[in-house]
Order: sequence, then C-alpha cells, then structure tokens
Amino acid sequence: MHPVDLIAPSKTLEVDSLAKKLISEGKDVVNLTAGEPDFQTPRPIIEEAINALNKGLTKYTDSNGILPLREAISKYLKEKKKVQFTPDEIVVSNGGKQALFNAFASILDEGDEAILFAPYWVSYPAQITMVRAKPVVVRTSFERQFVPTVDELLSAITLKTKLIVVNSPNNPSGGIYDYETMKAIADIANEKRIYVISDEVYDDLVYEGNHVSMYGLVDDDLLIYVNAFSKSHAMTGWRVGYVATKNKDIKKRISKIQSHLSSNINTTAQYAAIKACETDNSYMIEEFKKRRKFVVEKAEEYGLSFVEPKGAFYLFFKVKGSDEEFCKRLLSEKLVATVPGSAFDMPGFVRMSFATNIETLDKGLKRIKEFMEEWD
Ligand code: PLP
Repeated sequence: MHPVDLIAPSKTLEVDSLAKKLISEGKDVVNLTAGEPDFQTPRPIIEEAINALNKGLTKYTDSNGILPLREAISKYLKEKKKVQFTPDEIVVSNGGKQALFNAFASILDEGDEAILFAPYWVSYPAQITMVRAKPVVVRTSFERQFVPTVDELLSAITLKTKLIVVNSPNNPSGGIYDYETMKAIADIANEKRIYVISDEVYDDLVYEGNHVSMYGLVDDDLLIYVNAFSKSHAMTGWRVGYVATKNKDIKKRISKIQSHLSSNINTTAQYAAIKACETDNSYMIEEFKKRRKFVVEKAEEYGLSFVEPKGAFYLFFKVKGSDEEFCKRLLSEKLVATVPGSAFDMPGFVRMSFATNIETLDKGLKRIKEFMEEWD
C-alpha cells in the first residue's frame, strides 16, 4: 500500500475548517480549536517585511535560509535560550512542520521505528509514515500528568528504534517535562545511540517552572532541534521554522531535502523573521498567563477533570464516553468547537485552546459546563 494511503488528513485542521464554515454561515460559534495565538504579528516585524519588499528583496535565496537570518537565529538561541548552534548548523524551513518533516526524512529509513509519547501532535505519525518508517507509541497517563516513565520508554525500544520524538511543552496536554524526565530520556538515547528530535516550538510559553531543552542533554550528534516563530511571535501564517543539528551528515541531508522540496522559504518572511529575533514577545506571554489562570479557575469551578497546563495554550480535559461524539455534539448543540483527544491518540479527552480573549473563553466554558451537565 502506498504510505500516504495509510494516513488521514489533519484532524485538527478538519475540525477548525468545520467551525469556520459554521461561522461563515452566521452561526455564533465559539472556536476553541485554534493552535495559534490570536495576536497580530508585532508591528516591527510587519514593517521589516514591507521594507524588504520595497527594497526589491523578492528573489530566490540560499535554500538553507539567508545568512543574516541564520546568524540572527543563532544569536537569539544563544542569548535567549542558551542553545548554541552556528548559522551553518541551521536550516530554515516552512514552519516547524516542514522542519520536522525534513528531520524525519533525513533520519528514518524504510521500516525504522520512531517512538512517540501519546498524546502527541497529529502530524508526527503522519510524517513518519510518509517516509515509510513506523511510529511506535508509548502511552502516558492522566494520573502521571502525561509524563512517560523510563520503564515505559525502555519497553518500547527494539533493535529497529532509530528515533525518539520529544515535545515539551506539549501539544495537546499543556504539560512540560521537568529536568529529571528530559535527562532520563536523553540518557537512554545516548546510551542506546538513538536520535532525538526535540520539538520546542512552545518553549516561550511556559507558565510554571522552567522550560528544559534537550540541548546539552542529548549528545550533539544525536540531537535534532526544532523550533519556529509561529507560536512565540504570532507568526503562524508566515511559515518560518528551523531545524538545527551538529550532526554534519544529517544536516547535509536536511539541506538537500529542503533544496529539492521547496528551495528557500518565502523571502519576505525571512527578513521579517530577522526582526522577530529581536522583538519582545513578553506582553503576549503575560496575556497567556492571565488566560490560563482564568481557564484553570473556571474549569475547576465547573468540575472539569484536567491536568493543569504548565505550558503551550491548551486545556486537555477528561470526558466520559466517546470524545469524538462529545466534540461533534458540543459543536452542533452548543456551538463550541474543540478537538477530540483521539486526534492526538488519547481518546477520552478533549482539547480546548486558550489562545483567544477572556470574553470568548468565558462564553465557551459556560457552554461547555451546560453541555457537560446534559452529557453526564
Ligand atoms: N509542533 C507542534 C507540537 C505544534 O503544535 C505545531 C503547530 O501546531 C508545530 C510543530 C508546527 O508549527 P508551524 O506552524 O511552525 O509549522
């Protein structure tokens, strides 16, 4: 069978487009599916893009990304995140999504196994399957706050295991892995010589504790670091992400894939991203903190069962019975759009995004409460 026939279209995008369709029909839908900040991209970033256009910077560029952008990312990672990659170790791609695909395609061969911790972001297994490798799922539990144990990880490793994917802060659970967990995963990867893709696209959005990067924990030649400006700088539509690795062979492969798949990413967006590296985003984080506090308080008041989100912008709550049915009926009967946990391989849960204003969150949560009473 062709590998693409084994994958389904992105469920999160599907439910989001259904909500948007209802909105376009004039329905008062509260859309809590969004995996993107509702803020406008900061003005200085937009101005920089306009400047680039006015200067006529509209041609093809180096397919790895223009050097000034890779230099800016290198400096930004070093100063802001204590993560050190030289411009030569970075490849800019169309969002974190393509950065991840480039990484999977450069590491995985047919039949190789890649370990994912459920709940996981929808596109990981799809991308792994597209390159004819095999996703192997390690299930985490609500009771352990969706953090995997060493034994669970060890029991999933076979001779074919080539890669472990780590996503902290996590979409959809909002959980973050502490130092001990990250170190334990890294130690296993180092000992068994398994690559680690660390998807850190939500690393700026941490509300409790600190973000722990895989950088410095996983051996340099095994680490493939992925990040993007989408969530941190409200730049989802610009499509600027990047992959960084000190493994020269993997880096060479990633560059080749990028060059043949899409050449450089949009030139204007690259100039905008240089500006993003020096643009303060703390006001967005402060606003997210307020929203998270509001959502957690209301969810507690309404008796929802959830693990408090420590990062990202999602509340992942438990529902009885079928989560898919729950989300379908919540949308048709109460006009609230959410994403079923099944989309993230965690049935029995529902993801609501809090990347929207408090008034909308209030309205959405009230409707969820009403619906929960009928559903029970
Ligand atoms: N990784 C995770 C965990 C995500 O949630 C997303 C977006 O939803 C991405 C990667 C991809 O982000 P981008 O929009 O930069 O492609």
